[in-house]
Parts: sequence; C-alpha cells; structure tokens
Amino acid sequence: MPIRLFNTYSRQVEDFVPLEEGQVRLYTCGPTVYNFAHIGNFRAYIFEDLLQRHLEFRGFRVQRVMNLTDVDDKTIRGCRAAGIPLAEFTQPFKTAFFEDLDTLRIKRADHFPEATAADHIARMISMISTLIEKGHAYRAEDGSVYFRIRSFPGYGKLAHIVLDELQSGVRISSDEYEKENVGDFALWKAWDAADGDVWWESPWGRGRPGWHIECSAMATGILGPQIDIHCGGEDNIFPHHEAEIAQSECVTGLRFSRYWLHCKHLQVEGTKMAKSAGNFFTLRDLLEKGWTGREVRYALLSVKYREPLNFTIEGLSAARSALSRLDEWSRRIRELSDKAEIANAANIADLKKFRSALDDDLNISAALAAVFDVIRETNRQMDNNEISPSQARALSEWLTGIQSILAMEPEMEEIPTEVQSLLSLRAQARTNKDWKASDALRDQIQALGWTVKDSKDGQKLTKS
Ligand SMILES: [Zn+2]
Repeated sequence: MPIRLFNTYSRQVEDFVPLEEGQVRLYTCGPTVYNFAHIGNFRAYIFEDLLQRHLEFRGFRVQRVMNLTDVDDKTIRGCRAAGIPLAEFTQPFKTAFFEDLDTLRIKRADHFPEATAADHIARMISMISTLIEKGHAYRAEDGSVYFRIRSFPGYGKLAHIVLDELQSGVRISSDEYEKENVGDFALWKAWDAADGDVWWESPWGRGRPGWHIECSAMATGILGPQIDIHCGGEDNIFPHHEAEIAQSECVTGLRFSRYWLHCKHLQVEGTKMAKSAGNFFTLRDLLEKGWTGREVRYALLSVKYREPLNFTIEGLSAARSALSRLDEWSRRIRELSDKAEIANAANIADLKKFRSALDDDLNISAALAAVFDVIRETNRQMDNNEISPSQARALSEWLTGIQSILAMEPEMEEIPTEVQSLLSLRAQARTNKDWKASDALRDQIQALGWTVKDSKDGQKLTKS
C-alpha cells in the first residue's frame, strides 16, 4: 500500500508518488522571527516533523527546507521600536526557535534559509525581473512591483477561489491606488520612511521583498523548480501559497509543488488563542508551568493534522499519563527482550496497524490507538507469563521503529561523571573476567543511586 495524503490542491486523498523514486523534496514555511513561536505554530511544525519521520520510516530520503522570515512588516516594526538593527532584533528569536525545536524533538531540516541572506535576496530580485519581462508583473509609480494576477489563469486554484469573486465587493483602499487590480500582491515594496535602514538596492530602486516571493525564491533556489510536498498552516493557503504557486510557475513554466498539505488551526481551552483572552502560550510558558517538551509534543501530535485540535491543560495531563504507560511498558518489554537472541513476532498483537494508520493520510489518532491496544494486550499477556523473551524482542524492535516516528523516549537523565567512570572501569573488569571487581564496582554504582544490569548488548544503567 502506498502512502496516501490529502492534497489541498485537488481536495482529495491521493497516492503519494514523488518526482524521483525514493526521494522527497519537502518545503515547509517557517517562522517569522519577530517573537517567540507559539504552540499554534508548533502544531504545524510537529505535523511536518511527523510527515518527514514517517516518510523516512517508509524508506524515502527526505530533503527538507524550512525558511526563516527575517524581514517583513512585523520584524521591521519590532526593530524600529527597539531602536536596533534588524539582524540584531531577529537573532535572539532565531536562537530561541532552534532551542524550541530541540525541546519538542523536531528533526532539523536540511536547510534553514534566511530571507535576508544575500544569495536569496539576489534570487528574489532575479525572479521579479523575469516576471516583469514575461508580463506577469509591473512596477508602480512609487517603485513597488506587483504581481498581475490576471496574467496567471491558475490563480485561485489552490484556495478554490474564483478570481471574479475575489474582486467583487472589495473596495480598493487609498494606499493601493497604484495597483491595476485589488488582488495584485507586492513582489517588491518600495522603501518608505517607516522602513528606516532596512532596504536593498534593486533595478526598481531601494526597497525590500514581499513575503511571498521570499518563499518562492528559497524553495526553488534550494530544492529546484519542482518540489514534491509543500506544507504550512491552513492560514497560509491564501494568499501566501496561492502567490507562491503563481510566482514560481510563471518564472519556471513548470508545476511548482505536486502536493499541498495544510494543518488545521489550534484552539486553546475551546477558543481562539489570543493574548487578550489569556490563553496564549509559547512553549516557554508551558515549560515554566512544569510541563516537559515531550508532553507538549505528545499533546500537539496526538490529533490528526486535518482535525481541529483543542489544546487544554487536561490534554497535557492525559499526555503525561499516556507517556507513563508507554514508558512502563517499554521498560518491561526491554527487560524481557534482553534475555532473547532472536526476535519472533508469532502470536503477538497486530503490529502493522500503526504503520497503516500513518500511511492513511497520517492518521496519528488511529496509530496511537493501535499502540495502546498493543500495550494493553501484551501487558495482560506478560502478567500471565504468556510472552516469551523472543516475542518481547520482536515487540522491542517494533517499539524502536515507532519511536523513530513518535520520538517519545523518556527524557534521559544526565549520568554523573563519577558513575560514568565507574561504569567504564566495570566494563574493563568484565572484559578481563574479573568478576569480583565487577561486583564491587556494581555496588559502588548502586551506592550512588544507579542500578547496573548486564545484558548481551552490554551494561544497562537505570536510576534506582
Ligand atoms: Zn512560505
């Protein structure tokens, strides 16, 4: 069975077939670094992480790009208010973003291009020049450049919007009088006083790129003119992704992305997350309240990306107890499997359901339900001594596979250096078959609060 994904473009669940066999070119819209990312942003990034990990689990080599928007209205406003240069303003938020990715165990993309990098700015300018040459864009009197949506018949197809509907009933606001059409969007914004010292030279005068062209330039610049999957939150569909398609395809003449995947919004305690409602959380807010990155990851991951997710404190508690059940079961299985040489999956629970649920448009809710079915069933069998070590080994191998996707292993407690050095002395003693020394070292380790056990894979340490 192939992997099947819901494509926003066709509004259908389709078989996933990449352009090049075994390879996936994946572009995911990243954060605008004017603030700390909030948990709504992270829901999308965790869904994309799940997608990447599942594709890799299924044998694809994924090449992923996630951009950082480090110049736009918000970042400019922020640096002007702080009275510091743009790069100085965005840097701490970039650093925080990477820390948050690690806390949430989100796999790093292969590339994190920054919009303000010289090579990307150059590519944006060159794409805009091509669009003007081909008649898809025009320069307005003030030096801004707009995309002419009328020139691209496919405009509106992703969001399923008819162009005429877009124009009816919309009044052209006074500051947009230079546009030919109200729906035309800015590719290049001419400098004005509010931009301060944020500007680049271009054939159309000083200015800065529009947000949409940033993503088109970074996606095609790094991944090539055609990509397999483009992801984002559902609020990115229009106009951002619609504009990305128009710009990219009018420059290259090729279909930009084959699949478009969008993650639904997140609500907090049943309402829209808003600072004014007091239900606005960054990851840092939740860590301060004593929740772990793993628990937040679980809460954000556990609902299918196309279902609305209501994020609640109750949901975090449920995540905590689900994880402790998983941990306890993992410990039991690993202990039993240590006694076996080979794995034997005969007569144990159905282990295929997890994978097939994810193949079905990343149905994580069903995949997790399958995991907990296996846990319930095999716990009962272990209680009755009905699971052999080799069956446990098969379960343990299955667990390794699902953890490569879920990334829900218990937080590793830092092993103190003293314990580490005793452990390596003990390994040496065991190689020399000095059992007396080995036992003495085990007691010393025990006295420091750690239990060491021996398995055929070597010494295993747990906190006692
Ligand atoms: Zn984007």
